[in-house]
Amino acid sequence: MNKIGIALDLGTSGFRGQAIDLSANAVLKTVITARHPLPGANVMDHLNFAIMAGPDVAHQIIMATINQIIDLLNMPGFAIECFAVCGNPIQLSLFENIEIRDLAYAGENYRRQLGIVSPDRSSKEYPAERFPLLNLPGNCLVFIPPAVKHEIGADALAMLILSGILDKEEICLATDYGTNAEMALKVGDKIITGSAAAGPALEGQHVENGMLAAPGAISDLRPENGGYRCLVLNTEMQPEDGDLLTLDNGTVLQKGRLEAKGITGTGVIATVSQGMDSGLVSLPNIKTASGSLHLSNGIRFSKKDLIEAGKAIGAIRAGYLTLAAEAGVSVEDIRVAFMAGASGTYVDARKAMNIGMVPPKVKEIYQVGNTSLLLAREIVQDPRRLKTLDEIARQLRARHCMFGLSKVFEKAYLLELSYWTEGLPWELYKKYARMYQLPELPQLHTDVNVTKKVTRDIRDIGKDGLITIERVGEERHWFVPGCVNCGQCVEECPENAIKLDDTLGVVMRMDCCSGTACQRCEHICPEKVFRLSEFWMNSLKISCD
Ligand code: SF4
Ligand code: SF4
Repeated sequence: MNKIGIALDLGTSGFRGQAIDLSANAVLKTVITARHPLPGANVMDHLNFAIMAGPDVAHQIIMATINQIIDLLNMPGFAIECFAVCGNPIQLSLFENIEIRDLAYAGENYRRQLGIVSPDRSSKEYPAERFPLLNLPGNCLVFIPPAVKHEIGADALAMLILSGILDKEEICLATDYGTNAEMALKVGDKIITGSAAAGPALEGQHVENGMLAAPGAISDLRPENGGYRCLVLNTEMQPEDGDLLTLDNGTVLQKGRLEAKGITGTGVIATVSQGMDSGLVSLPNIKTASGSLHLSNGIRFSKKDLIEAGKAIGAIRAGYLTLAAEAGVSVEDIRVAFMAGASGTYVDARKAMNIGMVPPKVKEIYQVGNTSLLLAREIVQDPRRLKTLDEIARQLRARHCMFGLSKVFEKAYLLELSYWTEGLPWELYKKYARMYQLPELPQLHTDVNVTKKVTRDIRDIGKDGLITIERVGEERHWFVPGCVNCGQCVEECPENAIKLDDTLGVVMRMDCCSGTACQRCEHICPEKVFRLSEFWMNSLKISCD
């Protein structure tokens, strides 16, 4: 049996793991999760959860999820020689179970007052026994790549190194289009990064019929013969023809080869773009009898979905406006864009540009796939890579802009929200942007070259294919003191994340809960006895399968 390495990407919307045959340098199998195992839809929610529930609880849930992946990769334990994990600083800190509060609180002085010391986030090599909750053999080594700075994580480093941005002379923007859109603007040898909490719509979540990029997901929509063709991902994660239909009432003009189960983030982007071009979308409304756009197999895209998508698209545009202002360049100067992550790979780049997700004067777009998983794979293949990564991280002249503290971002995002959710006319948007002294958004340049460096976000899923875990991580339960079993919290939950059980009390599926951004169960409780933080701290795991 050849030696095996496991590469893992801890993404904000889900985890992706691969078993690698180290002798043949070949991917054997891929396992992904349908969601992130922690409550919440973005890294700040995950951070809040970890602070409220305690980092040990968050660490335990993450380890349980990784064990699900290791089990399904189904490699003989004795053969697993090494394990490498990549992700943003919050996910990697929760994995390592080290201090995370320095990532929650901005301001050196404030952190000092709280006695928070930033931990070492350079590259690490641990024996597997450092992680007793992880189902790895004792002789296995665990590798973690370095962060560039404490807020610029290994995932950003992966995007910078593997996208090709460092080799370009022009002003370039690289964006990992995920729940948390990691962005890097390169001007000369300087790099400014930012992280826009775009929300989950661009990964197909918090959208009524949304799903992650997985077989059965609508990933694109294109005009064809007077109707619109839905493209659906097959088991190889390649788009194939779904139904050809009319968007306004769903009349099927031609049956497709594949049935759609839901819509993923790239399908959302394509639907917004085509909806706007067709005139059926007039922000913030959809002008059809049902108030929705109709897609394959009864899947609909509603006004609520449109607003959710608009918030994400707006956060990304506000993000690159902010980076341009920070770098002292105009948006017009950004001529090259790199698109990473699942959305950045499957999306029709021109449609993304059409709705503002790529700066309007870009001439070259490169779609580069999931660079975080790729970096983890490179490390298991050659652990000496860690040393060169440390060196590159040290040399990068990178600076991080906290969008949460940026006045430019605040004003730009306010305008974006008005545009997407209230229908602020574009001319007024531009007038207010001038008033706020935001960087000017030039006219859209449509003559753009698109190079798809990969056809799948996960370049190679391996000979044994891809498995998606639907029930991710843990269910937890607790008898809430003072609970009178009225069931109002269950009825109020928009995600069906909780239920009542005679023998277990309140039971919560942690991967389905929206976390601190929601708290509707807490607010509705008539006895005022349900507190999410108390539930998370006191609840016990039921199962992880
Ligand atoms: S209602 Fe409560 S359990 Fe349901 S998603 Fe919101 S916070 Fe989570
Ligand atoms: S709303 Fe409050 S009292 Fe009612 S079942 Fe939920 S926790 Fe118990």
